Amino acid sequence: MIEANNPELKSWIEVEPDSDFPIQNLPFGIIRPLHGDPRPATRIGNIAIDLSVLADFGFFDHLDIDDLSVFYQPILNPLMAQGKPIWSAIRKTLSELFRIESTELLQNEEARNLALIPVDEVVMEMPVMVGDYTDFYSSLEHATNVGTMFRDPSNALYPNWKHLPVGYHGRSSSIVVSGTNIHRPKGQTLPKEASKPVFGPSKLVDFELEMAFITGKESTLGESISTDQAGDYIFGLVLFNDLSARDMQKWEYVPLGPFLAKNFGSVISPWIVTLEALEPFRVDGPAQDPPVLPYLKDSGSNSYNIQLEVVLTPPSGQPNTLCISNFKHMYWSINQQLAHQTVNGCNVRIGDMYGSGTISGPTPDSYGSMLELSWQGTKPIHLNDGTERKFIQDNDTITLRGYCVNGTTRLGFGECVTKILPAN
Ligand code: MN
Repeated sequence: MIEANNPELKSWIEVEPDSDFPIQNLPFGIIRPLHGDPRPATRIGNIAIDLSVLADFGFFDHLDIDDLSVFYQPILNPLMAQGKPIWSAIRKTLSELFRIESTELLQNEEARNLALIPVDEVVMEMPVMVGDYTDFYSSLEHATNVGTMFRDPSNALYPNWKHLPVGYHGRSSSIVVSGTNIHRPKGQTLPKEASKPVFGPSKLVDFELEMAFITGKESTLGESISTDQAGDYIFGLVLFNDLSARDMQKWEYVPLGPFLAKNFGSVISPWIVTLEALEPFRVDGPAQDPPVLPYLKDSGSNSYNIQLEVVLTPPSGQPNTLCISNFKHMYWSINQQLAHQTVNGCNVRIGDMYGSGTISGPTPDSYGSMLELSWQGTKPIHLNDGTERKFIQDNDTITLRGYCVNGTTRLGFGECVTKILPAN
């Protein structure tokens, strides 16, 4: 077992029992203090821990890092470039400094006062500079629901779907951190029974409940990453709300796929939970039938039990839970996604992001988009303030949450929040 994952560990920083951030998590993010530049941090309970201060006081001097400036950068890309053994060693150092038996930092009042900052006194920034962005389509239930609505219930999946993780290359410039509000997009749509398109604000803005993994290691153009090697490349995961304009999507997507309906804003949670921290929550993914081609074979329990939920808060302020799903429903694993992404020799870079695709579960209360929850608007969703929704209205706030529990440990991703503002 990885010692930092030991469920017995407790921190001298107070952690509430339902916190997403016990000492077993130790995620990585970028904080901006009230007076200071953005810098790398981790979090325990409701305390952000400034890694640049820990570096100032020499707490990382024993690590085999050639350049300690990685702890002072406004993005995590340089830290990730140090490689998996260093990611692990930093996490181990943090685990040792903050466990309850440890007095070294606890007794260094100056370092402690500078390094520990309540989370409500920092602004969370984008944790990485995103290079390339891929969005997969890897939930069988989601693909089946969409195919049933738009194609044919008896033939919902395209013939390729169970043979490869379908995906497309998206845009990275509009991936933003939680707390960033997004204006309703404008674009072309084809109204029902019309013969010509119209231009205006989208009427069918939707969320997509997704997670995304981030690569922290480069590969070489022309070479492939196997499913067995994928874990060395994947730094960690975040929650991912892939906002979508369904009316624009329907008109524009033929024949090359999603474009402006998908790139007006996608929102991530600010703390990257490492694959290492998720290790105790591995579970088997769904059985794959028909068998996959050899390059997609993935041995072991390569899915993760991550409980996911989506909350809609209308302007009246009362939150409504719209869906409860789980990452374990994904048909294709992240190892298979990365193996497929690179099987043709396409190279990956540090900071690249890979969305899972909408994560729907098997029951109607687990569907990961309003398109499915309201079944194309035919089944309005009743909110507890008496209003109803088919899609997102202006000034609605969408919150994604995700956490893992296994009987001994609970850890999570915090929140991924965005409000839909009126069209500009
Ligand atoms: Mn998507």
